[in-house]
Amino acid sequence: MASYYIWTIGCQMNKADSERVKGLFDSWGLAPAPDVQSADTIVLNSCVVRQKAENRVVSKIGSLAALKRKRPDASIIVIGCLVDGQTDELRRLYPHVDAFFKAGEYGDIAAWGVSKGLGGANPPVSPFAKGGRDMTSLFARGREDLPSPFANGGENPSVSPFAKGGRGMTSLFARRGEDLPSPFAKRGENPPESPFEKGGQKGDSPVAYVPVIHGCDNFCSYCIVPYRRGREKSRPAAEIISEVRGMAARGVREVTLVGQNVDSYGHDLPEPADLAVLLQELNEIEGLYRLRFLTSHPKDMTLRLIRMIAGMDKVCRHINLPVQSGNDEILKAMRRGYTSANYRKLIEEIRRFLPDAALSTDVIVGFPGETEEQFLDTYRLLEEVRFDAVHVAAYSPRAGTLASRTLKDDVPVEVKMARLQRVEALQEKVAGEINSELAGKTVEVLVEKRAGEKWSGRTRSNKLVFFEAGGDLVGKLVCVRIDRTSPWSLTGEPILAV
Ligand code: SAM
Ligand code: SF4
Repeated sequence: MASYYIWTIGCQMNKADSERVKGLFDSWGLAPAPDVQSADTIVLNSCVVRQKAENRVVSKIGSLAALKRKRPDASIIVIGCLVDGQTDELRRLYPHVDAFFKAGEYGDIAAWGVSKGLGGANPPVSPFAKGGRDMTSLFARGREDLPSPFANGGENPSVSPFAKGGRGMTSLFARRGEDLPSPFAKRGENPPESPFEKGGQKGDSPVAYVPVIHGCDNFCSYCIVPYRRGREKSRPAAEIISEVRGMAARGVREVTLVGQNVDSYGHDLPEPADLAVLLQELNEIEGLYRLRFLTSHPKDMTLRLIRMIAGMDKVCRHINLPVQSGNDEILKAMRRGYTSANYRKLIEEIRRFLPDAALSTDVIVGFPGETEEQFLDTYRLLEEVRFDAVHVAAYSPRAGTLASRTLKDDVPVEVKMARLQRVEALQEKVAGEINSELAGKTVEVLVEKRAGEKWSGRTRSNKLVFFEAGGDLVGKLVCVRIDRTSPWSLTGEPILAV
């Protein structure tokens, strides 16, 4: 039986993409290979969001040249954000790679597999077959001439989108009110079947990522994602619901809806749809225990969403809200579209309606021009909010982005690293303190896998928990009494399994 191996690096969108490729290969009867050396088809799912990730990808691709010489029949394909519209240069650099596909080009991957005799003659026609968006038109217009994502339409994102309307909180209330009718009022009716319904998890893991919106329209000045993943394109809600129903029927118990900016979900669909309504529909699915969503954007997350999820039992109180910086000038240069005061207000509202919510964030240190005082604004915001988790990165210029073309990467690397370590040390302390409050308490864990002698899974607040027990507990909810805590995980005794 032909086999495959998928290597994935990067964000949740990449993980979701890999799950879908796995689903496609599984549906063709290919077998997962234990390692890359023995696989017949090798998929490298790449990330270039930071130089560090790009270096790893380049070294991984290079390392496969020898394998291809030894086993010329093995196919190597590279997918994900390394691949832009032009593959000539990639082909020249990596002649041992058989094919390159842009992120989200599931239909083209399927067609390639069929042409190689890996699968059936009729590859599923995916709504994302063309990558979901028109990269050509995007580039044709010249990137930074596109309409600004900011409410005031100019280069001045420090003017709050919250105050101006647009897609901010106020406007959503004003335009739509609190009770947006469900586009799926007739629950029983069969939504169109998703061609990738069998994709993703095949019952082997109880947790799955489901992409709901591809691409990103935000063009933060430092970020390469919109150039590689294209403009935002939401998947039809009926298709997502059908897919999640199928997953729940096959044993998936937790679904994370993913997108670079999930709060934008639905704005480009013909029918009225948004993330809150989508979650409401998914919350009704039998057999599904938990729902999560990421990543939220502070300028687009609405009070309406926060209020509505407060009434949904399956939606986990776990919100990933990247702040990137706590300094308004840096936020403006990053083109984030909110101020630190907007961000603090949003956190206040989340804690008002979801008092038990776990919060995580992303931070970039060493953005061009960042002074010690500006860095301290970020540091103080982290101290004040006390996040459950912080993903911190040192700025690295990405070719083609606005920041790389217009701002000098002038923060010395040792200063960037020192700031990064200060954030990490602070976060270790904060997370250690937050987690220590769970000692002696009982938490609900959805068991994902066995790790050595122990089972591991996550709480609703996304804390990693280890415990020892017999039997097969994958996909079970287990109540665990916590006896040891660290900044990164919890350990305890199982009390009850459901
Ligand atoms: N869409 C999400 C958001 O709005 O924050 C995040 C997507 S991005 C793929 C993941 C993270 O990578 C970002 O939150 C940011 O912290 C980091 N990142 C993106 N570009 C970067 C760059 N040029 N240098 C360092 N970190 C970067
Ligand atoms: Fe990148 Fe900004 Fe889009 Fe996130 S919102 S993917 S950081 S451009």
